[in-house]
Order: sequence, then structure tokens, then C-alpha cells
Amino acid sequence: MFDPVKVVSDFIRFPSVSTDPAFAEGMLGARDYIANLLKSMGLEVDILDTPLHPLVRARRTGPEDWPHVLIYGHYDVQPADPLELWSSPAFEPEIRNGRLYGRGSADNKGPMMVHIAAAARLLESDPNAPIRFTFLIEGEEEIGSPSFPGILERYKDELKADFVLLSDTLSPSTEQIAITTGLRGLTALEVEVTGPRSDLHSGINGGAVYNPIQALSEILASMHDANNRVTVPGFYDDVIPAGDWERSEIARIGSAEDYAKQLDIEAFHTIDGISPFEATRLMPTLEFNGITGGYQGKGDKTIVPSRASAKITCRLVANQQEEDILNKVVRTLEERCPKGIRMRIHRGKGGPPYQVVPPDRENTPAEQNPHLARAFRAADKAIATHFPNAPLYLREGGSIPIIGQINNILEMDSLMIGMFTPADNLHAPDESFDLKMFERGIAASEQMLRELITAR
Ligand SMILES: [Zn+2]
Repeated sequence: MFDPVKVVSDFIRFPSVSTDPAFAEGMLGARDYIANLLKSMGLEVDILDTPLHPLVRARRTGPEDWPHVLIYGHYDVQPADPLELWSSPAFEPEIRNGRLYGRGSADNKGPMMVHIAAAARLLESDPNAPIRFTFLIEGEEEIGSPSFPGILERYKDELKADFVLLSDTLSPSTEQIAITTGLRGLTALEVEVTGPRSDLHSGINGGAVYNPIQALSEILASMHDANNRVTVPGFYDDVIPAGDWERSEIARIGSAEDYAKQLDIEAFHTIDGISPFEATRLMPTLEFNGITGGYQGKGDKTIVPSRASAKITCRLVANQQEEDILNKVVRTLEERCPKGIRMRIHRGKGGPPYQVVPPDRENTPAEQNPHLARAFRAADKAIATHFPNAPLYLREGGSIPIIGQINNILEMDSLMIGMFTPADNLHAPDESFDLKMFERGIAASEQMLRELITAR
């Protein structure tokens, strides 16, 4: 059996920055490294080509009645810049105070190795273990996984497993593991309004024409009511109400006062009866991400500007459809565009929301995959055994589009166990991975996989 810490360290040495072509060699190195590691575990490895960065797939096949676990991870990392802010070089891993420092240590090279090491231990001690594995390790996660849906379509039959196991989500701390039961989806657009052909002298023309900044502000201000509800007709139609169990899990997260202090705000602005922690997890949003128009330089400039624009994104929750929400928002903006103003809307990219209800809850689907249900129960037990607390079950406000795509295309649910924490500095200088988390995570994952076999 390999030494997991050494393996992650060696893995980090390959600078696999997917967004920058200058790192092609690092991408290739990381890909080969993980492919060889999986091969050394007796798995059947192949490389799935894409227009950009290939995926590594490794399989352990077996009879149909063996549980089949698809383990997801990504070998690409974020750029390490600004390099001068790192205490030790980003691609030269170093252990300090029980943490492994290096770009990709927590996102996602360490956490994905939790399950690879667990499977390796299991297979080494029990070479005939009745369990099927498919490892699917992609190289485009940090650039939005553009090739991933195509791969799911192309290998649909072969990739279909009982469920997906992954660790690419957040836990509150190393003491408190979270199992992520949902992710928000995303839809994006840019709205541009134009009045006169060019900027006008506000003394000569001011008062006679609709100022585009005024028009845009009025339209944007109409998108929420006083209670912070989005006013787009039908916006909430497909939102599934949360289960009571979810509300009580969320209530365990912490205090709203501390959260407000942390953000340095005096008050939250949520829909009546919804706590800030619920608002970010259970509810969709319509958010203005940027607004621009007119003169923004020093001093004054007395004009009626020609144009103004705003960037808008919506976070979606299950069962909202990206396309449907985008259409509704576009229609609403267009309907609210006043005479004298022209509007153009550029549609952006998005991703579907996702939700899984664990077994034994009041709203668990009756037809839930039995292996998935067993895995949830086994994970609960294993985490309670190896960590100080039983896991929290939380939907997250962020988006991982591939999880919804896997659900839409392969009809598979995901068991997402958070292995990184806010202390790990993801996407930032001095990214690190807690080695106690790593060791406990491997032990818990191994116990969970074993239980999946014996409970069969
Ligand atoms: Zn990641």
C-alpha cells in the first residue's frame, strides 16, 4: 500500500493549471501520475479524450449485483498567482503544523486521494472484494468542466453506477464534517440599455430624454419587492419546499449574529421567516453582479449618457430549470423596458441545481437506489466513528454544475463528503490540507466502502 501523504505530495509537484496553456506539461504529468497510481491498484485505466484536457478513467468491473461506486475527482488546479504571497513555493509541497501546503492540496488532490487510498486499502486487504469501482478524474473542473457533459453522453452506459462518491465540497471544520445534499444552479445574463445614439449635453437635452441609467435603475429596482422576493412572474413556481429535517440541520450551523459580525453588516435582508443560513441554501436568488454606465472619471461631466448595462446572475435551487428561469427573467426585463429606451440582452452560461434527500427522511424518494441509501447510512456511521461529531447534512449555496449534469444525464445521485474547510485557503495563496482530516477521512471512507459490501 502506498503512503497517501507522499502520493499527494508527489501529485502536487505537477503544476496542473488547466486554464493556462503554458502548463501543458504539468497537466500531462498530473494525468500520467494519477493514471499510473490507479493502474498500480489493479484497475483498468484508460484516457478519455476531449477537445481540451482528457479525463482519466479507471475501472474495476464485476457482476451486476456488486455495488458500483463512481468516484469523481479533478487533477487540475487553479493558478498559483500571486506567487510572492506563498510562504513556500506553490508546487513544492511542504508540511507545517500538520498541514500539507501546496496548490491543489485541498482542491482537489488531497480530498480525491481520500477515496483512492480507501479503495486501495480495501482492495489490498480483500483482493476479491465484491465491489465495482469507476474512478473518473477530470482535468477541466477549474475552467467550468466544458467537456464533461459530452463525456457523460458519450460513455453513458459504461459510466452508469449506483451512485457518485466525491469530496470537493466544504465542511465547517475538521471536527464537523458536512455531507452536502444540494447545490444551487446558476444562470447568467447581461442587460444593456441604450437611449440616444451618443452621450448628450445635459444642459441642451437634459429633461427631454429618458436617461438610460435612470431607466436601468428603475428596471433593476423592480426585480425585488420590499420583502426581497424576486418579482419575476413564475420565478418560485418549481422550487421544492425544504423538509423539516433540513431546517433543523441548518439551525445547528451557528448563530446569525456571528455571521453578521463576520460580514460586518448590521442586518440581514432575507424574505420574512427565512434565516440567513436558509436563504443561502434553500432559496433561489437574482443578484446584480455589476453595473456600469455614463461618466465615471474624476470631477464632473454633465451628460445624459447613451448607455448603461448590468450583469445579473440567478442562483437556482431544485427543481428550477436554468433555461426556463433565464427565459422568465429576460421576458420580465423586456416587458419593463420603457419607451425611448432600447434593450439588448446577452445570455451567459449556467448550470443546473441539484438536490439529494438522504434515506430515512420524511421526503426521501421511495425509489431511491438501495446502494446509495446504504452508503449514506454507512457514511453517517463511519464519520461518527472517526470524527468527533456525526455529520451535518446541508445544501450548499454554491454551484458544481457537473453534479446536476450527472443527475440529469445518468440519473445518478451523489454522496458529497466535505473534506476541506475554510482554513484551507482554496484558490488562494498558502492553500493547505489538514493531514488529520486526511487520515480520518481515509479511515471513514474505507469503513464506509466495507460496510457497503457487507450490508449487501
Ligand atoms: Zn475542486
